[in-house]
Amino acid sequence: MPGIVVVGAGQAGAALVARLRAKGERRPVTLIGEEHVPPYQRPPLSKAYLKGEMALERLYLRPEAWYRENGVELRLDTRVDAIDLADRTVIAGGHALPYDELVLTTGSVPRRLPPGVGGDLAGVHVVRGLRDVDRLAPEMAAGKRALVIGGGYIGLEAAAVAASLGLDVTVVEAAPRILQRVAAPETSDVVRAVHEGHGVRIREGTGLARLTGEGRVSGAVLEDGTELPADIVIVGIGITPATALAEAAGIEVENGIRVDARGRTSAPHVWAAGDCAALPCRGRRIRLESVQNAIDQAEAVADNIAGAERDYDPRPWFWSDQYDLKLQIAGLNTGYDRVVVRPGTSHWYYAGDRLLAVDAMNDPRAYMVGKRLIEAGRSPDPAAVADPETDLKTLLR
Ligand code: NAP
Repeated sequence: MPGIVVVGAGQAGAALVARLRAKGERRPVTLIGEEHVPPYQRPPLSKAYLKGEMALERLYLRPEAWYRENGVELRLDTRVDAIDLADRTVIAGGHALPYDELVLTTGSVPRRLPPGVGGDLAGVHVVRGLRDVDRLAPEMAAGKRALVIGGGYIGLEAAAVAASLGLDVTVVEAAPRILQRVAAPETSDVVRAVHEGHGVRIREGTGLARLTGEGRVSGAVLEDGTELPADIVIVGIGITPATALAEAAGIEVENGIRVDARGRTSAPHVWAAGDCAALPCRGRRIRLESVQNAIDQAEAVADNIAGAERDYDPRPWFWSDQYDLKLQIAGLNTGYDRVVVRPGTSHWYYAGDRLLAVDAMNDPRAYMVGKRLIEAGRSPDPAAVADPETDLKTLLR
């Protein structure tokens, strides 16, 4: 009997099948994943797990037995090769699997350096999946020289782990500053200072020209001609949504699989959620690369498959741990025209008088208050926010 087939066993796929069962969905549910392990959390991969401080089993979102006990067929090590929309089947390993409803939670793939610039040399790593980190972790030995390409979250979190383990670390960021895509200059300044305080060199405004080495990486030449030695290279230059399967089936793709507010793609009975999905949000179309979006959007899709007719309203938040710095971000800062700095430390993004987002650095109270204000659509007076004498909780009244 056909049922619900979910392609992609990451955070979104796992959240989706759990929600289907929690909502009393009785049809067969199949969760298909390319990797050899049950769905796991990715955030620790660039933090505690990379550092060797977290056991593999603790990464799993649920024990493998959960899927059996809840009637979810977990097909691991399985690659879906095609979707046949007319037949309502997916093709995997030469077999056709029929579906009533199909959900694509295919996630994203890390951008890699092309072989032409040395991306295929041994010692060059990405940090995306468990296999990547299992290959990288044994190379992170004290005294080695690590070159990190890309000053986004992946690069900076990996740099923090490497420095904490005693490696000599340099971060190269092509943009004028680290975290440019996601944060204001004020936040980049705080994060840069923390890294430099741990002896990490940060080189901004110059990209990589090429890696050097015979077989194995031994160094790099930057666009400005600087030559740097390197024993290992960690590449964190962003991700691209995994849309090939959808595209080949003729499903609309626009920087991600295009979905409506309910999570439906352009094809009947096909839904998408998580990193791979491009969703409508306040008059724009966006992709949200975050765990919280993967879970919330997947749960909305599960509810809609179960008949809820519920629009998904994203409430973005993010976090990053680097050394003892906990950066928490509420909201989306796109379109901000000023940043209000509150000592303590938090940065409040405004567009005119409207509060869009808050970056809080080791300041959980600012994060909590900012998040609640943004979710309620409220915008406190910037002067009150900037005044260290203001008790933030009074802003919620
Ligand atoms: P990212 O946030 O897109 O950052 C990649 C950075 O690398 C960008 O600043 C990019 O600059 C730069 N870059 C690109 N090509 C480069 C080159 N050739 N040389 C030097 N710099 C280059 O992506 P990411 O850090 O790789 O992370 C991947 C995904 O995982 C993202 O979705 C991220 O949000 C997510 N993630 C989140 C967390 C968290 O929330 N704590 C932690 C880890 C990962 P341009 O923008 O100029 O291209």
